[in-house]
Amino acid sequence: MTIADSARETTTSAARTYALDRRHVFHSWSAQAEIAPMVITRAEGSYVWDGEGNRLLDFSSQLVNTNIGHQHPEVVEAIAAQAHRLATVAPQHANDQRSEAARLVAEHAPGDLDQVFFTNGGADANEHAVRMARLVTGRPKVLSRYHSYHGGTEQAINLTGDPRRWANDDGRAGTVHFLGPYLYRSAFRATTEEEECAAALAHLEQVIELEGPQTIAAVLLEAIPGTAGIMVPPPGYLSGVRELCDRHGIMLIVDEVMTGFGRTGAWFHSATEGVVPDLLTFAKGVNSGYVPLGGVVLGPRTGEYFAHRPYPGGLTYSGHPLACASAVAAMTVMERDGIVDHARRIGEDVLGPGLARLAERHPSVGEVRGLGVFWAMELVRDRGTREQVAPTGGSSPLMAEAVATAKSLGLLPFANSHRLHAVPPCTVSETEAREGLEILDGVLDRVDRTVAGV
Ligand code: PLP
Repeated sequence: MTIADSARETTTSAARTYALDRRHVFHSWSAQAEIAPMVITRAEGSYVWDGEGNRLLDFSSQLVNTNIGHQHPEVVEAIAAQAHRLATVAPQHANDQRSEAARLVAEHAPGDLDQVFFTNGGADANEHAVRMARLVTGRPKVLSRYHSYHGGTEQAINLTGDPRRWANDDGRAGTVHFLGPYLYRSAFRATTEEEECAAALAHLEQVIELEGPQTIAAVLLEAIPGTAGIMVPPPGYLSGVRELCDRHGIMLIVDEVMTGFGRTGAWFHSATEGVVPDLLTFAKGVNSGYVPLGGVVLGPRTGEYFAHRPYPGGLTYSGHPLACASAVAAMTVMERDGIVDHARRIGEDVLGPGLARLAERHPSVGEVRGLGVFWAMELVRDRGTREQVAPTGGSSPLMAEAVATAKSLGLLPFANSHRLHAVPPCTVSETEAREGLEILDGVLDRVDRTVAGV
């Protein structure tokens, strides 16, 4: 077959994929008749290929999950080998891959978090963490941040702070929301990180007092809010929340679904901040999403509570061998190849300084923030007023144009509301990261011109 024949075949098969998708597949978070999903036919490392054969640099890591890059041969091989050996096993039995995966997760988890309950993804990890906290404390309510995303299932979407909650919220989920630190759009009129941190902690303290501490089972928060905008909390915020929880016997649940396993240049961001939650949830980067997997890491308070009392919850696929085998392979490769440290250095040496330069050059960039391979750019119409180019939880023709421009220049971006996130795999090379920055420069040229009306 000639190269031209093979390209024609790929395009024909992509056209069929697209037609069948539009006819039969119901997509997440979408008005079904208004979407045009991009067909992805193959992927490798930091790149994906679309149905027309175009190669795109994946600056989205899909949904911020391919931390180890696409098609890592050792992870793919571990799944294939496990499929041949033992493709499935019920959760009540012990299995070598599940035991090893739990050991590796516990070893990297902060402090004395030592037992792992495996789930199918991040939302159900948060569901179970909240259920555990309610049972352990005997209290009904859970507090979480307004600027947050915790998953699409019933409890998790009600814990979510961003507008995706609204249509799912009938006010009966036992969740109360509070404001976290977000200096660029400070709700507290703070002008420094220190002021923002102190004000956000005082606000949370007041919410706890007004809600009645004896009614609150847990405070749940992302180590760094991800989809809601990558607002890295100021130093002292997470430990301040820990202290407030301790004072009132409230459990602290830290959601590291997006931040975990190298994304921030650390295994877990809470550990970097010296904070040990009572429960930690994870998914995504644990195995880069090659097979669905998430989980809850339990501290001693929860472990002891369920030592001689049955936990009233479970899943057919808890600790599925294919998922766990891929997690063991992914974590082993990450340890061996220093991938977490690589992600930290890419952030410090390439993405951080490079995005700061873009912010200087482009008036439509209001703020750049992040660390590791976890960065957000706020796009604004006016740096003075900070008016967003799209509403929170919505889109706009300008954002659609920014995404289309990025794709046409060879980059798959992660866009949310008025923000572009630069979230490549942790394995992204320096050259690829610079290539991404160059393309973003071109995208921002276009955004600047559209904002200026030229
Ligand atoms: N928590 C956080 C912080 C997330 O970013 C996500 C997904 O993006 C979830 C939970 C939900 O995970 P999943 O989609 O695997 O259910």
